[in-house]
Amino acid sequence: MNCWQMIRMNKATEVMKSAQHWLNLIRALPLTRPVRIMNVCGGHERAITMAGLRSALPKNVELIPGPGCPVCVCPEEDVYRNWPCMQA
Ligand code: SF4
Repeated sequence: MNCWQMIRMNKATEVMKSAQHWLNLIRALPLTRPVRIMNVCGGHERAITMAGLRSALPKNVELIPGPGCPVCVCPEEDVYRNWPCMQA
């Protein structure tokens, strides 16, 4: 294993430890009823889905995919129509 591979491996290990730490904190929450959390960002939704985060959370914590921020959900025509306002 070369140095770069070791650095990458250490970073991945750090990320896993951090993720496990946060999952433990979430699982230890004294929730008395189901909690639903909407994430807004499409990029976050992709990361959550690709990492399988939903299956790691307790059953009473639900992540709901949101609509995306204005950058994601604005039609391109609206952006161009308002371009003069943005330059003023
Ligand atoms: S444009 Fe907005 S919602 Fe879409 S990925 Fe970027 S920050 Fe997230």
